[in-house]
Amino acid sequence: MKKTINGKTKIIGVIGKNIENSLSPLIHNQIILKCSFNFCYLPFQIAETNLGKAIQGIKALNIRGVNITLPYKERVIDFLDEPEESARRIGAVNTIVNNKGILAGYNTDVIGFKKSLQEEGKFTTKGKKAVILGAGGAARAVVYSILEEGIKEVCIFNRTLEKAKKIKQDFSSFFPESNIYVFPLTEENIKDKIEKAHLLVNTTSIGMPPQIDKTPLLDEKLFHPDLLVYDLIYHPAKTLFLRQAERAGAKIINGLPMLIYQGIESFYLWTGFKPEGEEVLEMIKQIF
Ligand code: NAP
Repeated sequence: MKKTINGKTKIIGVIGKNIENSLSPLIHNQIILKCSFNFCYLPFQIAETNLGKAIQGIKALNIRGVNITLPYKERVIDFLDEPEESARRIGAVNTIVNNKGILAGYNTDVIGFKKSLQEEGKFTTKGKKAVILGAGGAARAVVYSILEEGIKEVCIFNRTLEKAKKIKQDFSSFFPESNIYVFPLTEENIKDKIEKAHLLVNTTSIGMPPQIDKTPLLDEKLFHPDLLVYDLIYHPAKTLFLRQAERAGAKIINGLPMLIYQGIESFYLWTGFKPEGEEVLEMIKQIF
């Protein structure tokens, strides 16, 4: 199907610091092409000092909306007119919608992670135990998502312990039935918790370019076959972390399904149209 950009084309896009490897422009423009929508999705690489100006620019340029990615998901909330209640609670926004000059903020990573666990992982979260590596914007969405689904225990490990403590402090009162524990990111701390866990998620950026030969867990013996091991990274498609997990017999998922499912929710917020998740996933897997 041929796509034409004309005077009525609506602009959507993604704002991030280093977005050369982002798959979002490919995914959204493929959906746009398939549905013959008069939209165009563009990458906006923005320096940290320009984040506020860029967000104001959404209004000035009448951009319909944007995704927000690394490392701006938390900071961006301060620049919005109407962050949705759950995005405020999570403390991270990955989707902005421009409603006639009023900027609303949402977090579609939560539903993206939830759907990918259900659809791709065939994983039932209720009553299970999870180990989460990292405590940045993505970790907040992942932890919130599994708490909403009734996880029994979440152990968060992060290099900067204060950030993990803040997640516990922000979420505990909303989910009193679940136990949240926080630890510094060391293998000694992790060993004990992984043994009894059902789900292990890497939400750190360790394994992304330029750190593709790095893994957050060096000791391969920590992985076991009863774990579902999830890496939020999708480029490379199989990180060293996932290769280690696979060698240990664990089931693995990379970040592509989450990216697709969160993207579909964002697309719906901008256009009112929700494409079929499985179809989009298949389409992108064939290209990527
Ligand atoms: P972020 O807010 O910048 O957080 C980065 C996290 O990685 C922090 O916990 C940070 O620890 C940790 N980290 C980075 N380098 C480290 C190192 N050398 N040693 C130990 N810890 C390190 O980023 P984010 O938005 O959460 O994104 C994190 C990852 O998730 C990225 O790879 C991103 O592409 C991916 N992601 C994927 C999806 C998807 O749909 N698949 C969605 C969202 C994010 P400190 O707190 O100590 O700095």
